[in-house]
Amino acid sequence: MTTTSPEISTPDLHCPQCGYNLRGIESELCPECGLAIDRAAFAESQLPWSHRKRIGYVRAYLRTLAMGLLDSKKLAMEVARPVSFRDAQKFRFITVLIAWIPLAALAIWGRSQLLPPFQNFLKQGLLNIPEGFAFLWPWEVGAMTFGVAPLAIALFLIFMSGVASYHFHPKAVATQLQNRAIALSYYTCGPLLILSLAVVLLLTMSRIAQSFPNLHGGAWKIAVATGVISAALPIITFLGWWLTMLRLHRRVVHASGGGSVVLAITLPVAWIICAAFALVGVVWVIGFIELIIRSFI
Ligand SMILES: [Zn+2]
Repeated sequence: MTTTSPEISTPDLHCPQCGYNLRGIESELCPECGLAIDRAAFAESQLPWSHRKRIGYVRAYLRTLAMGLLDSKKLAMEVARPVSFRDAQKFRFITVLIAWIPLAALAIWGRSQLLPPFQNFLKQGLLNIPEGFAFLWPWEVGAMTFGVAPLAIALFLIFMSGVASYHFHPKAVATQLQNRAIALSYYTCGPLLILSLAVVLLLTMSRIAQSFPNLHGGAWKIAVATGVISAALPIITFLGWWLTMLRLHRRVVHASGGGSVVLAITLPVAWIICAAFALVGVVWVIGFIELIIRSFI
């Protein structure tokens, strides 16, 4: 990750529409795209989050969240203005925390429900693992270990919200622009909240459906509709996230060109690797270590 230097000392001014460097330009119009140059407005961040002390934290947070989710063009234009890296990190970790709380609570609750039968199973030893499940066994042990599932979920959310930033380091782009783009990419992490909401919704509905085995008519349709929405929401938001990143990337590497195709392919792969590493790999390794320790006592 690239470190940021304070941007106050840098006199660079970029056109928010085309990214052209306006330093030393006397004209009132951008020579590249013809946009009227408003030096005061171009130099000040338009991100609601950077004005949170004035407009209030909650309002600033919600407006910035909406901007990252719905108005990626406006967000991408911020590349032309100073972007505070610390502000962006703060926004990212607040979002991760809000997404994490319900998921962690569900994981803790789920563990409490599954623990008594699982402990019986564990006492019977390795001989009772069904055929073909031996490979999954460390993962199951890890997932049932106190605190591991909430930890894995936290890692998953942190990785997911940060992985795109690794794509904003093309050498041809000025370091200042790279740093801004990395910070801006953190403002797009709203899909994590929708993912969290969808998981909670899906599990709540499946729980309700289990409590009423004789669901029929309208109730059944509502359950199915909720399931479809819960599945569609993350897909739509991840697609939106992906498009936002591409737009941001294109705007940042405007001068150098290219690179977007690589991002388009590698970003979904990176997300899958993040999910697999946090939710499968880490849990599996912890379970494996625990099984080794258990075999000695
Ligand atoms: Zn321009």
